[in-house]
Amino acid sequence: MAAKRYSCLNGIFIYWECNYFFGGQMGLKCPYCKGEEVIKRGWRKTKFGKKQRYLCRGCNRRFVEDDGFKRMVYPGEVISEGISLHQRGLSFAKVSEHFEEYKGIKPNPSTIWKWERKYSKRLKEWEGKQEPKIGGPIHMDEVIVKVKGEKLYRWHAKDKKTRFKFSGNLTDRSYERGAKPLFKQIKRRTRKQFKERKKMGNPIKFVSDKLGHYRKGFNRYFSRMADLEFGVPIANKKYGREHNNNPIERDNEEIKERYKVMRGFKNRDSAQTTLDMHDIHQNYIHPIRLKGEKRARTPAERAGIKIDLGRQHWLLHLIMFFPILKRSRNWKVFSKIRLPKPCIAS
Ligand SMILES: [Zn+2]
Repeated sequence: MAAKRYSCLNGIFIYWECNYFFGGQMGLKCPYCKGEEVIKRGWRKTKFGKKQRYLCRGCNRRFVEDDGFKRMVYPGEVISEGISLHQRGLSFAKVSEHFEEYKGIKPNPSTIWKWERKYSKRLKEWEGKQEPKIGGPIHMDEVIVKVKGEKLYRWHAKDKKTRFKFSGNLTDRSYERGAKPLFKQIKRRTRKQFKERKKMGNPIKFVSDKLGHYRKGFNRYFSRMADLEFGVPIANKKYGREHNNNPIERDNEEIKERYKVMRGFKNRDSAQTTLDMHDIHQNYIHPIRLKGEKRARTPAERAGIKIDLGRQHWLLHLIMFFPILKRSRNWKVFSKIRLPKPCIAS
């Protein structure tokens, strides 16, 4: 993703193609009457620039295209940068200070939190519809997060081969709210692959610690199409056991590290929001080079979810993707679209 060269010409060509197949501005429809006969008409001026306005020939109403940041006061570039800075460990207050120094704007820290909450929810909903290709084995784990003194568990699963993460809930230590929905989610998204691998005599494996919840969830959802193995923690690695739960434990270390930087979450909602965005960031935005790989890739890329986010502004592009995908109702066709380069507000 990062290594691929951004080509403007290519972008225009694909844009034209989309116009050709879906009509209008990438399938741009009037949000009021769903009419497709729309024309450019004027601009909507905001504090930070202007946005193209359209006129619908059908109902004669004007509207602004939903670029993912509709009705937001601040431009998408600022919003995505704010979220990214917070994801990289800066507090909301520090992010606000950063903008004051470098962009001469001072969004309220609580505003930045609202950005993260909004886009975390939106991207999570989209992400839940994606079907990652499983390499396996899938490591299941929970990590303890303290929220205002309350001990909570973040449930998640990670594909060892692709590093793709399935994120679950932030709950108490309950099976119903923790392990169960996580197994359910994995089955909903990847059931076909489990069946195929079983048929081929090479079933996908789950690895977990001995917490009974995992046995229970596995028996309920996967006993006929996968294997379950109990891993050993990192501490036991020196004994040379083959199936340890390493990749996910390393990830837990990372969450703990982040948690330290943030000095605790304010409430459960904000903790869930931040962790969800963290997982989106890991799966789709942050490329890493694994041993034996020629270039850095995102887990999503390894799992066959191909989205070209260009060379820069990855989160911004991911958010801009969303309304286009929603309009088209055809996720696969649009996985090849390259978005126009964002204009940078300064
Ligand atoms: Zn209309």
